[in-house]
Amino acid sequence: MKLLGATILALSLVGSAFTQTPQTGAAADAGGGQASNQSIKIMRSGSQPSRQGPADNFSGKVRVDPLFEAIAPGRARSSLVTFDPGARTAWHTHPLGQALIVTAGVGRVQRWGDPVEEIRKGDVVWIPAGQKHWHGAATNNSMSHIAIVEAPDGKSVEWMEKVSDSQYAAAVRAESSTTNAISSQPRPSQRAIGDFAPKLAELTDNVLYADVWERPELSKRDRSLVTVASLIALNRPEQLRSHLTRARDNGVTQEELIETITHLAFYAGWPNAVTAIGVAKEVFEKK
Ligand code: MN
Repeated sequence: MKLLGATILALSLVGSAFTQTPQTGAAADAGGGQASNQSIKIMRSGSQPSRQGPADNFSGKVRVDPLFEAIAPGRARSSLVTFDPGARTAWHTHPLGQALIVTAGVGRVQRWGDPVEEIRKGDVVWIPAGQKHWHGAATNNSMSHIAIVEAPDGKSVEWMEKVSDSQYAAAVRAESSTTNAISSQPRPSQRAIGDFAPKLAELTDNVLYADVWERPELSKRDRSLVTVASLIALNRPEQLRSHLTRARDNGVTQEELIETITHLAFYAGWPNAVTAIGVAKEVFEKK
């Protein structure tokens, strides 16, 4: 009973503290100084409208969700930026540098004169002060990052020329010459469903391919064998078609894939194997 009374007292104190606290930092303060006359500010989810990245400074479709503006004496400001596949910033610099925290997907970042770097969900990128650079999505994946910059004189970025298609194409070449064959592969099914079912396309890109397929616990070759075996057993010729190509890119030979199908005739059924071998013949004879 004593405890309950104390709790009610504490709650009523909290309540009165709330009602008596000035709503703005500019309100008169009885002498607590700067530290106490600025109340905590909560930017409620959904209260700050999204905007399109302006066409002068971005290529492709880019959405900017503001997170916070600099509040004196602080100079940092931040936004969440989402790039569609192929979208990117123009070349630019930041007077005091910039931090990028990749929150989804697969992207690219490049400093002028340096090779293109791939960035993925969870990566944190530091762009040094005054360095000319761009950032954006990979060709087949969208990418979101939280960007944090300081604005010493109210200005946080100096925009320059756009990243041309040939400069971006150089990034694509760099991409396909590295180990990441997966994300550089064209995905016909992705293109087909992207407009119609964007969430499913996003889950396929950002969860299945950018995350699960990239996990180091299984090699890509093993993942391909498991996937191909499942698709044969489930009799899914449409999905099998692209996965046979992928499997070959991941180091499974044509002979091994034919042997896989032969082996599965005994476990998944003769008709499934015959359907699969028909698809394989089509895929292998094309290349
Ligand atoms: Mn930047």
